[in-house]
Amino acid sequence: MKIITFGISVTALFCVASAFAQDHKLGYDTTPYYPGSKWRVHDSSRPRPSAITPSTCNAQKGKAPSDAEVLFDGHDLSKFVSMKSGVAGEPGWKLGEGVMEVIPGKGDIFSKEAFGDMQIHLEWASPSEVKGDSQNRGNSGLKISGLYEIQILDSFDNMTYADGQAGAIYGQYPPLVNASCKPGEWQAYDIVFEAPKFSGATVVKPAFVTVIHNGIVVQNHEQILGTTKNANVGNYEPHADKPFMLQNHNTPVRYRLVWVRRLTARPE
Ligand code: MG
Repeated sequence: MKIITFGISVTALFCVASAFAQDHKLGYDTTPYYPGSKWRVHDSSRPRPSAITPSTCNAQKGKAPSDAEVLFDGHDLSKFVSMKSGVAGEPGWKLGEGVMEVIPGKGDIFSKEAFGDMQIHLEWASPSEVKGDSQNRGNSGLKISGLYEIQILDSFDNMTYADGQAGAIYGQYPPLVNASCKPGEWQAYDIVFEAPKFSGATVVKPAFVTVIHNGIVVQNHEQILGTTKNANVGNYEPHADKPFMLQNHNTPVRYRLVWVRRLTARPE
């Protein structure tokens, strides 16, 4: 009798665990709500944005404007560092044929320079060969200030939670539409970031971000709700200008161009 009971329990636990794991591919139903929002973080029932076909997929590599700080143009990783265990080191990503590529297990990379208000341009591509699904398919990300992630994901016909798609403010706002290109095609982000302002521990002005994905506005001067977190609500911690991070999510996403323009106030 005891053996039968034990068998049922294990089976039941396995089923529950399997269902739990499967749920997370499409979202969560137990995560907290953002204050004032009807959606949970990664809410499984949050509507997925409609897919549209951009006109710029796999375009030729762009050219940085004359006043941009070019952080990567295909030749070297000298403007980036890895920060494994909090120690700055050489980035472990692969460099070759005009691209840098995430090497799984080799960590995130950070810009050496710190940035506040900025315009940033990224050209990236998810792997041509589709492997994995949901968040395990072509996942990287731009973490502005190392805190606020604009998701990079192979979101072409890839079911996942709405606020985790390409162009999402991760865990906060899905993109307005899904403007993803096919796997392996070059895609572009043009992002305008307004850094948060603090007075002591108080947020005087939250951060705002506009994201243009392949020529399509997918975040329109959206307010960032604090640090972006996996399956949890983030908040603001006061900080000065900080480096941005390109995420290593253990899938070989490639980059070929990264440039930044610092945004300053118009002279009086
Ligand atoms: Mg990511």
